[in-house]
Amino acid sequence: MKRYSAWQLFKQGLTGQTGWSPAWRQPDPKPAYDVIIIGGGGHGLATAYYLAKIHGITNVALLEKGWIGGGNSGRNTTIVRSNYFVEGNTAFYEHSLKLWEGLSQDLNYNVMFSQRGHLNLFFTPGQRDALMRRYNIMRLNGIDGEFLNREQVQKMVPHLNYGNQARLPIMGGFLQARAGTARHDAVNWGYARAASALGVDIIQNCEVTGFIKKAGRIAGVETNRGEIRAEKIGMAVAGSTSVLAGLAGLGKLPIESHKLQAFVSEPIKPFLDTVVVYGAGHGHFYISQSDKGGMVFGGNIDGYNSYAQKGNLPIYTDVASCAMNVMPALGRIKLLRQWAGIMDMSMDGSPFITKTDMPGFYLNAGWCYGGFKAIPGSGWCFAHTIAHDRPHEINSLLTLDRYAHGRQIDESGHGPYPKAH
Ligand SMILES: Cc1cc2nc3c(=O)[nH]c(=O)nc-3n(C[C@H](O)[C@H](O)[C@H](O)COP(=O)(O)OP(=O)(O)OC[C@H]3O[C@@H](n4cnc5c(N)ncnc54)[C@H](O)[C@@H]3O)c2cc1C
Repeated sequence: MKRYSAWQLFKQGLTGQTGWSPAWRQPDPKPAYDVIIIGGGGHGLATAYYLAKIHGITNVALLEKGWIGGGNSGRNTTIVRSNYFVEGNTAFYEHSLKLWEGLSQDLNYNVMFSQRGHLNLFFTPGQRDALMRRYNIMRLNGIDGEFLNREQVQKMVPHLNYGNQARLPIMGGFLQARAGTARHDAVNWGYARAASALGVDIIQNCEVTGFIKKAGRIAGVETNRGEIRAEKIGMAVAGSTSVLAGLAGLGKLPIESHKLQAFVSEPIKPFLDTVVVYGAGHGHFYISQSDKGGMVFGGNIDGYNSYAQKGNLPIYTDVASCAMNVMPALGRIKLLRQWAGIMDMSMDGSPFITKTDMPGFYLNAGWCYGGFKAIPGSGWCFAHTIAHDRPHEINSLLTLDRYAHGRQIDESGHGPYPKAH
């Protein structure tokens, strides 16, 4: 693999861009590997990369039923942050953010991580106090955060609704300055290229249709391209988790599949250089501006179980009204596209990176709204769990049996209602 560099760019510019090689190899599957990773989203790709890079396990196949990044990892609104509150999440997401900060250099691929800040608006003293508690926990864990009053918010984001008649009168905001956005495709492609260069076989159009077991442990998978054997198999298939867990005989998992929509407007001149977010009552809204100029935004999940990768009108109108509450200027631009992804919603809103009851079979799931930011940390922890057959300290609480022991990691305090997280 050619290293990407300024010199390469210059050289290829002079030679008509004819000297680039494909970013990753396209091998046929071998009959057996040391490890199989199912799912070519960010989590699967990052896991394969860190297995090879950190643990020296390079005889790895990553199996993807479609094309890499065709799932949620290429469909999301790309917000990256580590402003988490509950033990189990705080250290994990901060570890992930630190990996983001060096990711482009590590992968030799520009993932366009832009630390433009993440501003959480508040409208009532109650919301301010809740954010203050979050702030205190973050600061105690060495994570950055700062409170802005109304005037400071207005200076930073002048285009919000600061009028006296505003439905949601802005009191202030809670800023994480190190947070931001990244380019989702680039993250998938960067991990795929770097993993492939270390020897990982990235196999697209390869759907896992069944599991092979031997003497009570996992022994391989059946796919539309034949059987592939491995003594260790990790699964990171997001919205398809319940389906594959059923095929593997894991039983019913505490995960539901819901869809989440996203929206992008026509491109406009630079308008917003941070991520703005709020939650108020049922309303939930987040927005940023992409490098191409489109306003990228979203809100709540559709609220009922589905495997459709398109959304429905009620949430469409709900998100539009949430947008108009704080940013009325948006009403004057045209919507370009709308789409959805299948979310793996867990019962407490927090993920699983864990061994399962079946020896050799590992689970990565339950990412809800928040798995894009988790990609580096999740891959890093899942690779450790698979390589050592035990979790790293950072993901030791992200287990499947936590509900049985009353150790929910309920970040938003909604209880066991996936659609509310
Ligand atoms: C609209 C939207 C907005 C979002 N916004 C954000 C955000 O701003 N910030 C954030 O942190 N998170 C966000 N998320 C969540 C985030 O995108 C996901 O949590 C994350 O991308 C999940 O990554 P993954 O690798 O687990 O899953 P995916 O990227 O979905 O990858 C799973 C892969 O498994 C493959 N697969 C399924 N079944 C099989 C099979 N049988 N055999 C082989 N392969 C299979 C699928 O084809 C898919 O490619 C958003 C999600 C959506 C949908």
